[in-house]
Amino acid sequence: MQPITISDRYLGCFLGQSIGDAVGSPIEGMAPDMIYQFFGDSQALMQVPADRELHYTDDTEMMIGVAEALCDEGRIIEDRLVERFVANLNPARGYGPGAIRVLQVMSEGGNWKHLTETMFPGGSYGDGAAMRVAPVGLLFHSDLDRVWHEARLSALPTHVHPMGIEGAQLLAVAVAWLMTHTVFEPEAMYAELLRRAVTDEFRWLLSTAANLSADDSVSILGNGIEAQRSVVTSIACFALAPDDYVEAVGRAIGLGGDTDTLGAMTGALSGTHLGVAGLPGNLVNQLENGERGRDAIIALAVRLHERFCLPALV
Ligand SMILES: [Mg+2]
Repeated sequence: MQPITISDRYLGCFLGQSIGDAVGSPIEGMAPDMIYQFFGDSQALMQVPADRELHYTDDTEMMIGVAEALCDEGRIIEDRLVERFVANLNPARGYGPGAIRVLQVMSEGGNWKHLTETMFPGGSYGDGAAMRVAPVGLLFHSDLDRVWHEARLSALPTHVHPMGIEGAQLLAVAVAWLMTHTVFEPEAMYAELLRRAVTDEFRWLLSTAANLSADDSVSILGNGIEAQRSVVTSIACFALAPDDYVEAVGRAIGLGGDTDTLGAMTGALSGTHLGVAGLPGNLVNQLENGERGRDAIIALAVRLHERFCLPALV
């Protein structure tokens, strides 16, 4: 077997996220028992009809914005990132109403920072920052402190609640950790995440996840749109099936609830670890390939890797 290169992992991460997002999208909001009844187990629900095109959602559209900003600036500059989000906005991608309001105010040049801070008490603690953060983990993977810092900056345009920020930071660190550990040892990954986790809630979730076995249900970790009910869930779904993209992502989507984001985050982790060759070829082929589809996503992953290879990141 060919060794998985760094560039393979960039491609795997981007495509893994896009496919997980797209497969989870049509069943967002469904209860897990309904999903099982209609689609079967985790393996079966990943077998979508052969002629169906897979369409990604806001999760991947915003991940593209983060990646583009990193390619151009080499770091997160909040105002530049906001410009990307606005330029890329396609309302048909299923943005939540809160995100749409913030993006609308951003596009009008209004006081979006005030809206981000006040729309929800204490700011949003949704998983919207975590769902787009994977490129931060890729680009800064050789420096986990930098990952933690840049992930925070990437969250701030839309998520200022500490839980929303911490969720993004933990997911970014998990991606970065996988970039530098070709042999997956869950205890070591969870130890790194626990060392960095700040809140009792995330510490409890990570400790619980670390003690799950493959036969345990991950539903205790949550399946909701809150960062604390989806980020560690996705990490656990990957960690319980580290060598099987379909099983990991299928398990995440099978939990129901925020299925596109659970699929996106789990897919990003699995794709990073397995590389692009570890993704199911039929699902890669079914990913939409229009103007901002598969080929553009591949080109962006290549561009971000080239940015990583530049001698100095400011
Ligand atoms: Mg979505």
